[in-house]
Amino acid sequence: MRNNIAKSSPHRSGVRAVLMAVAVLIAGCTSCGGGAVNDNGVVPVELPEFNADRAFADIEQQCDFGPRMPGSPGHQAQLAWMISTLTPLADDLIQQPFSDSTPFGGPYDFTNLIAVFSSQAPGVTTLIGAHWDTRPVADQDPDPDLRDEPVPGANDGGSGVAILLELARIFSQEPPPSPVYLAFFDAEDSGKSGCGLPYIGFCMGSDYMAHNWPTEIELPDRVIVLDLVGGQVQPETADAVRPAQSSNDYFNLRIESYSQAAAPQLVDHIWDIAEFLGHSAFERRTQGYIIDDHLPFINTLGIPAVDIIDFAPPVWHTVSDTPEHCDPDALHQVGETMLGLVYGM
Ligand SMILES: [Zn+2]
Repeated sequence: MRNNIAKSSPHRSGVRAVLMAVAVLIAGCTSCGGGAVNDNGVVPVELPEFNADRAFADIEQQCDFGPRMPGSPGHQAQLAWMISTLTPLADDLIQQPFSDSTPFGGPYDFTNLIAVFSSQAPGVTTLIGAHWDTRPVADQDPDPDLRDEPVPGANDGGSGVAILLELARIFSQEPPPSPVYLAFFDAEDSGKSGCGLPYIGFCMGSDYMAHNWPTEIELPDRVIVLDLVGGQVQPETADAVRPAQSSNDYFNLRIESYSQAAAPQLVDHIWDIAEFLGHSAFERRTQGYIIDDHLPFINTLGIPAVDIIDFAPPVWHTVSDTPEHCDPDALHQVGETMLGLVYGM
């Protein structure tokens, strides 16, 4: 599997991009007269508030549309809602339509969105992305009779979109100091379980984006993908209301191994920021390799890319992936860490 990763393109060096990021961070610190760099190299800058309750309401809104798998009414409603929400917030909203078939049928109409902020600003360009489609089958459901039902996608799809939309609201009020793209990938989750590379039915939207980057904007220097970022956070007290079999049942963010191989400095920087902010779901150990929307950016474009993902939420790919199994605190931990990255921590 390692042969599939970290090909660098001749004109783009991940190491150089990260070094540039460090240089910009240091310059940004001195120019704003901000606080000293701490032991981990994190610059303690004041961040806008990430409103996790508002983000959680966006998970509920998405689930109210119904499942958002390819070809469904929910898919159409979700796209229209994202466009109408993002249009007044972003400097520019790029729509990237394409059509393709999946292992489940088609051809279907798909659309990637890129909301652009501060594109004329100096410094490194950051893309933060999430998939907005949901899985057509709950093939991990414990009940075999439910495995042909669609996944509601509160966490798987809904949580990443919810964080991106809250970031868009914040960026519209307080423009980022360097360019930021918020990317909404279609067609991530229509692969057949157990299929291998190259992404048959998985990551189709991000793969299309990487092969058809819009000519009107520059490529990003670094990419962060958010997936399954809304699960239940472990309560702090032992006698808390939610019992668990093990800490794995709660929201945790271990380091994904393709990300670690392709973008070790970016991984370090993100986990440093999370640690600085006290977001304990971020655990500094690797767990394994995941096929996700970061891979086309690494493999096709040679851009350092990191997947921030909860490896095994208990309701993953089941009919129980509903808002009751999501937690605003998870959205807050990830959303605020992204604010730290964007605003120069
Ligand atoms: Zn999924």
